[in-house]
Amino acid sequence: MVSNCANPNCGKPLHYLREGRIFVFDVAGGIDGSNGKRTRRLEHFWLCGACAQTMVMRQSAEGIQAVMRPQARIHRPMPVATQYLAS
Ligand SMILES: [Zn+2]
Repeated sequence: MVSNCANPNCGKPLHYLREGRIFVFDVAGGIDGSNGKRTRRLEHFWLCGACAQTMVMRQSAEGIQAVMRPQARIHRPMPVATQYLAS
């Protein structure tokens, strides 16, 4: 099971699942010795709240790694209440 943020530069311990984001990948496992079929297994990755804002987990030929979100925004949108007060 996941215990730390999947961003290698962060590694924040996982305490609350409601924070951040869980990614699940269906990866090919080893060969099952009894029937010769390739087994499948699910791998779970967690990005903490801070990392999930700018990163996603992606599966590529090199494996599964944390990458920057292509559409990552530098600035967060203002909360609705703040926009109302400002206008
Ligand atoms: Zn993190």
